[in-house]
This record gives sequence, C-alpha cells and structure tokens, in this order.
Amino acid sequence: MKPNYSQANTRFQNVDSFKEWTTEAADEVYQISRWGEGYFAVHNNGDLCVLPNKDANGPRINMMEVIEEMKLKKLAFPAVIRFHDILRSQVTNINKTFRAVIEEARFNGQYTGVYPIKVNQMREVVDEIVDAGAPFNYGLEAGSKPELIAALAMNTNQNSLTILNGYKDEDFLRLALLGNQLGRKVIVVVEKYSELLQLLDLAQKTGVEPMIGLRAKLATKSTGKWAGSSGDYAKFGLTIPEILQAVRHCKSIGKEHCLKLFHFHIGSQIPDIRTIKDSITEGSRIFCKLVKEGAKLEYFDVGGGVGVNYDGTGSINYSLKDYVGDVVYILKQTCDLEDVPHPNIVSESGRLVTAHHSCVITNVFGAIEIGKSDLPTDKKMNEHVLVANIRDISGDITEKNYKDVYSDALKIKEDTESAFKLGVLNLEERAKVETLFWKISRAVIEHSKKDEYAPDEILMLRNQMAQQYLSNFSVFQSAPDTWGIGQILPVLPIHRLNQKPEVLASIADITCDSDGKIDCFLSPDGPSQTVPMHKLNEGEDYYIGLFMTGAYQDIMGDMHNCFGRLNEVHVFCDDDDPTDFYIEEIIPGNRADQVLKTLQYNPETMAQTMKSNIDQQVKRGKIRPRDGVDLTDFYEDCLKSYTYLRK
Ligand SMILES: *Cc1c(COP(=O)(O)O)cnc(C)c1O
Repeated sequence: MKPNYSQANTRFQNVDSFKEWTTEAADEVYQISRWGEGYFAVHNNGDLCVLPNKDANGPRINMMEVIEEMKLKKLAFPAVIRFHDILRSQVTNINKTFRAVIEEARFNGQYTGVYPIKVNQMREVVDEIVDAGAPFNYGLEAGSKPELIAALAMNTNQNSLTILNGYKDEDFLRLALLGNQLGRKVIVVVEKYSELLQLLDLAQKTGVEPMIGLRAKLATKSTGKWAGSSGDYAKFGLTIPEILQAVRHCKSIGKEHCLKLFHFHIGSQIPDIRTIKDSITEGSRIFCKLVKEGAKLEYFDVGGGVGVNYDGTGSINYSLKDYVGDVVYILKQTCDLEDVPHPNIVSESGRLVTAHHSCVITNVFGAIEIGKSDLPTDKKMNEHVLVANIRDISGDITEKNYKDVYSDALKIKEDTESAFKLGVLNLEERAKVETLFWKISRAVIEHSKKDEYAPDEILMLRNQMAQQYLSNFSVFQSAPDTWGIGQILPVLPIHRLNQKPEVLASIADITCDSDGKIDCFLSPDGPSQTVPMHKLNEGEDYYIGLFMTGAYQDIMGDMHNCFGRLNEVHVFCDDDDPTDFYIEEIIPGNRADQVLKTLQYNPETMAQTMKSNIDQQVKRGKIRPRDGVDLTDFYEDCLKSYTYLRK
C-alpha cells in the first residue's frame, strides 16, 4: 500500500524562509529532535552526533569521526552503523518505565518483557539485548522454528520468559519442551486449537509439564497498515468460544495449572492510543473471566505494536510512558473490579526497542539534473516558428508574467512533440525547443519562490525539476519498507548541517529498477517528495544517512540485482572519554562471489571458464600474454569484492 503522492506535500520545503541558517534550523527541517527521541543532535560544526544517554551535556559520538575511522580501516560504503548504546538504552527504558509505573500504581504483579527476535535476529543485536535486559529478566520471543533454535541457545536465564508464537509442528513443540526440561520458562502460545491438543499429547508422552499460553482474537482492531492482525478474521489466535473450550478442556484433564499466559497482539506501529486503551480493556476483561473459569493464568501478555515516530509528525499520538500507563492502570482497574489477583505483565515490543539503534550510511556520487543542456539555441535562417516563439518568450520572463510564460512554454513544448512526430521538425529544432523550455522552467521556479500564491501546477514543477541524488546503496537491501509499504524513514546529510541545504532532491539508488528510489520524506509540514540537500562539491565526499533502520529493515532486505549485505560496524561510546567512541566489531558485507554462491553459481568454475577463454584469445594473438594475466586477475578480484560501487 504505497502512499498517494498527490497527497504528499507539493508545497516544497522552503528553506529560504530561514533568514539565517543555524544548526537549530537543520534540526527543524530534518525533524531530528522529533524522530531521534533525543539520541541525535547537530554539533556546532555541522556534524550529526549520537547522544547515547539522550543528554546534550553527556557523552557524544560524532558520526563523521566514525566515518573517518572506517575510512582508515578501508571499509567501503554503503555501511550499517549500529550504536549499541542506543539499543541498551532502549531496553533499559522499557523495563524501567514499566517498573516505575507498576510501583506508582501499586500494582502487585511484575513486568517480565520479551524481545521478539523477528524484528532483528542479528546475533549481535540479540546478544546485546539479552545482556542489557539481564538485570530485568528480560526474555525473548520466537515465532518460527529457526528463531526458537536461536532463542533456546541465547536465553539461558531461568528467570526470564521465552515465548513462542507462530504456527508450530511437532519438532517446534519438542524444542519447547526441551527448554522446559532445562528449567526454563518456555511458554507455547496456542495460535490454533489443534496446537493445544498436540502439545498436551506430546507433554504426556514425554512426561514434561508444558507451559501454555492462549492467544485471543480481540474484537478491538487497530488502524493503519496492520489493522488485519486482530478481529475475527485474523490469521492467528483463538476465538472466544475456542478459548473457553481450551480452558474447559485443560480443566477436564487436570491441566489447568499449565495455562500460564494470556496473549493478544493487535498489530504493529499502532497509531492511536485509544486503540491501545480499547485492547487492554477488552483483553483484561477476557483475562479475568478466564481466571474465574479456572485457568491458573500468571501472565498478561499485551504483545507488541508500540509505534515509533519515523516521520517526526504526530502520526503516533502517544509516548512510551502513556502506553505503559494505560497497560498498568487499565489492567489493575479491571482486576480489582473483577476481584482477580494482579498478574505479571509481559510485552513484546520489537520496533520500539530496535528501530533507532542502526542506520545506513552511503555516499552520494552524482546527481541527475532535469533539463541540463548546453546546446546552443541561437537563431538560424528559416527556423521553424515554434523555435522562434519559445526563444522570444524565454527572453521576457518577469515576476508578473511568469505564470503565463510557463503556460505558453508548455503549449509550445506539446506542439513541438506533435510536429516532430509528423516529421515537420528536425531533431536539432526539437532539441532547441526543449533546451529553452527547461531554461524557462528554471526561471519560472525562481520567480515562484517569491510568490506566496504560486499555483499548484508550478509547485508541482518544482518537485518535477528536483534533482535526483545518486546514492550508493539498494533500497531493496537496506530500506525495503520505503519501497514495499511506503514507510517514510528519516534521510539526511550527516555533515554540513551548519550550511543551508540549497538543493531539493530525491534519492535514487544503484539498482536497475525504477522503483529503486526514495521520494517521500519527512518535513515540518508533513510528507514531501523532496528533501533539502547540499550542493555537491567537486572532489569532496557527501555522506547521507538513512535512519531508524534497526527494526525489520535490517533483516527483510533482499538481494535485488545481487547487491548483498552491507559492511557493518558496531560502535560504543568510550566510558573513559565522553567525546570518544570505539568500533567494537566489524562485520564485512557480502562479496560478489558470496552472493552468487547463494544463487547456485560456482565462482571457481566461473573463474576457470573466464581464464580459459582469455587464454584462447592469447593463443590467437588477440590479447597480449601480459594483459591476459592481468585480465584474469582482474575478474577474480572483482569476484572477491564488495557488491556496491567502489566510490
Ligand atoms: C511482530 C510481533 C511483535 C512485535 O511487534 P512490534 O510492532 O515490532 O512491537 C510482537 N508480538 C507478536 C506476536 C508479533 O507477531
């Protein structure tokens, strides 16, 4: 579901309205404080910095210094930078927020959250989260067999939960029981009724006491992209009659004490706090009724779905504190009314925990400028009247008449195209008309900037004339949601932020796919088709970042055009020097041969084929022997190189 760009703001970002450009202006134009949640700030020298403690006077990591160090280590771009301090901080945040509200509300249960690893399964990410969560007994959630295989090895803490969602086969259930045999709290959430019977059966055969969770299909629905995750027709969960039947069945065989957890998950990126209130209200009622029915439920699991503010606007109308407040207070109230003891609270927030910690840094290596042509347009004898006409109006554009001139120019351009097709105009004449048309368009845009009431047609022209900044990355590998579901991610330069960005641009990637671009950006006035960027300086690198790629983007990227995984660095703040950092780990991205191997190619035989072909040409005297050796080496070198552009 792509957004409709006619809705995207045609009123392009007016950086000219800033009389004086400051780093505060940069913060506003790119909405850094809003999407960055305090983790990002612009330094006086124009570099973007990371504030791991969200404290402007605390430690900071200058992103350009990280890039300098990566260059010294000969790491090529594009690259992923992970700020593990942010990851740790988000884990601590969610746990401390729940703890604080639970204490304030005098709620009797505890918070024992889990991280759903599907959001980012990178081993280093999961490791960091488990480590940062250890003081809070923060656990893991797995939704598939391979995820469970990972979770069993990663979460060895007997006091934290391992929660299993998703459809399961016998191996999956056996793995869960294996966890229980190791003394772990592994809870199998029943997504469909037959799973319950299968699990009970297996438990009886193996003599292991299972821990069972019941996922309900709530009537409460979210809005937006993931609205279908709840309601009667959702993919996962039990209907109310099935849940009731499940409890009664367990009771009838004396296993009601195995029913440990009640769960619902109404979708990701929930935009509206009212939906959250409704779901907790409904869920807590069901929970209490099930307890009264005899289920010995100990955990109330509210799933994930806490939204993050990708576009800086108010599309998510609540904070983490608001969310936690609603969960705790509504649950408490319902339990008190129903006279049911307070359960422990579980949440499965993934996006919230991981989105901010990683970003993709890439270099802009050029620009596509519309209608740039130096073709001479001077008058010629016997030239066609269309050429003469457009030349005439091109010399006569003023603040007053620019709208009329633009309409006339558009008409001449259309007529020219028809005349050319009929063979009336030659190629050179058409080229002249187009050259003049673009010259007029640029002048029209300059005049319209001073005009508060410029018509939509001309505002559209501004967007159409925007440059495309060619960036060394693949949207399909690094930002699939911008392509797949029209998600806006923050995109901005990470240096020169103390200079006014004078170019309006969209971003084009290096895949051979016209969809390989980003043309919807955040702005203070809502979505915009362009983002302000700086003029590219000859011989100078220009780095831009795609931010908030830590949730889903990292892991859902694909190998369109055989562009592989990116080089990656993991950065930590230096505790001894608050202005310094260190690169704790480097993970090299895919080489061409690695990507090709996953597609069943055999790089060794490919190299041999190329070598023998080159040798043949040498024998025939078509290639000099010395060059033949170099060419063979060159091909093999390329096979072993990074898949992206070298510079
Ligand atoms: C995907 C998923 C989550 C994580 O959702 P976020 O929106 O990333 O917080 C949690 N629980 C279940 C069952 C899920 O499928």
